[in-house]
Amino acid sequence: MAYLSEPEPEYGRPKPVAPGVRRVVARNPSMMTYHGTNTYLVETPEGLAVIDPGPENAEHVAALVAATGGRVDIVILTHWHHDHHGATPALVAATGARTVGFHRFGAQGFHHDIPLKDGEAFAGLRAVHTPGHATDHLCYAREDGILFSGDHVMSWSSSIVPPPPFGDMTDYCDGLRRLAARDDTLYLPGHGPPLPEPQAYVAELLRYRVAREEAILATLREKPRDPPALVELLYAKREMRLRPAAERNVRSHLDKLRKEGRVSAEGDVWTAL
Ligand SMILES: [Zn+2]
Repeated sequence: MAYLSEPEPEYGRPKPVAPGVRRVVARNPSMMTYHGTNTYLVETPEGLAVIDPGPENAEHVAALVAATGGRVDIVILTHWHHDHHGATPALVAATGARTVGFHRFGAQGFHHDIPLKDGEAFAGLRAVHTPGHATDHLCYAREDGILFSGDHVMSWSSSIVPPPPFGDMTDYCDGLRRLAARDDTLYLPGHGPPLPEPQAYVAELLRYRVAREEAILATLREKPRDPPALVELLYAKREMRLRPAAERNVRSHLDKLRKEGRVSAEGDVWTAL
């Protein structure tokens, strides 16, 4: 995969990335979040929008309030995960903004003020429901070709796709095909730098998943195996630091293959059919 990289950003400092869009990176770097979560400040017909306020982090919330003068009209969420949604309560408390997101929030105890279904638009941003990484994941498309792609498509890495009920590999792959058929020109992801020429990249992501799936099937044709054994055989040593994530991905692939009638399981031992 031709992943993109960038130097460590200046945390909390807004930087223009597209017309009417500034990016602020939160200081939550990790193996899963790259340099940190991207928060986007977007000028919209409904006022200033913050897409993904980021993690629960007082320094980041203070940076967003400073960057906007405290005038945030709407807070828009790509999905419920804490590194994107965690700062929402604090930012809403500080600014009185209304929240926008998928009509079924992915976790208990929160409801958006403005719930969106697939294809609905608010503030010039059209929701594209792209479950897989998270069931409530929305990308947001602007008419000028910019797509806020959240964690469905990230420039720096492939996405974690947990098995049901938290994620779904079938949905994830369907979502990639759906994006590949669109004509967006620039993705602004939840982590990592802006992604130009996104269709070729999305096609590559799909090929990568198909290749992983074929490798799983080939290994199971040799003999039945459990997910830890598959991870051991299929993942490079450098990826082993992410073993729990790798195992979740393998379990998602197995779930998809089972739905397609290509594998079966006895307990946690899987057989190719
Ligand atoms: Zn994330």
